Amino acid sequence: MGLPVDVAPRIGVLGGTFDPIHVGHLVAAVNARHALHLDRVILMVANLPWQKTGQRVVTPAEDRWAMVEAAVGGVEGLEAGRLEMDRGGESFTADTMVELASLHPGASLFLIVGWDVAAELTTWDRWEDIQRLATLVVVNRPGAGRPAGLDGDGWRVEEVTVPNLEISSTDLRSRAATGRPLDYLVPEAAVHCLRARGLYATSG
Ligand code: ATP
Ligand code: MG
Repeated sequence: MGLPVDVAPRIGVLGGTFDPIHVGHLVAAVNARHALHLDRVILMVANLPWQKTGQRVVTPAEDRWAMVEAAVGGVEGLEAGRLEMDRGGESFTADTMVELASLHPGASLFLIVGWDVAAELTTWDRWEDIQRLATLVVVNRPGAGRPAGLDGDGWRVEEVTVPNLEISSTDLRSRAATGRPLDYLVPEAAVHCLRARGLYATSG
């Protein structure tokens, strides 16, 4: 008697470089989880983000992962993902979705992206695999417009409205480089972590 216990898990993935993680990422993750009743949301740390390598120096993946782990510690349903680091090399979301689908047969997969990323998804390697394997969860992000044409392009799309937080890792790196505080934009535990590791040339 009772409810079946083998209900297919609903797994969200918020992929990112997290260089560093900030509250914009976390607010997107917890609100997507709540709105779509996701069992877990994995903040998947890119090993080598192909869009960013060559453009700037990317903090080592282990350091970025440690900040994410510190930030999500104790937050129910959020976790720091290492699949892309364990795979090594350049990180492609299509590979991650294929791997998650085989690790969790029967699970429903959700890929959470902000407006800026949603606009460029079809430039991604093997984006058709992502389209086949996951529902896209699009969250608003200041500085980017809502991309047109998501519906009707073959994507399964859910839109989740989150508080507009005009925060980016790019701005945080520049704040750190000029000695301005990261506090409250980056969760306290992650600030401790980045200071302990001497990241972003923070002195405070
Ligand atoms: P960078 O400035 O280095 O690109 P970022 O702040 O954009 O860093 P990413 O790691 O590139 O962070 O982003 C990972 C994912 O989180 C993307 O889907 C992005 O759209 C989303 N995201 C990042 N910041 C926000 C925010 N403030 N509000 C909503 N979504 C966000
Ligand atoms: Mg970005």
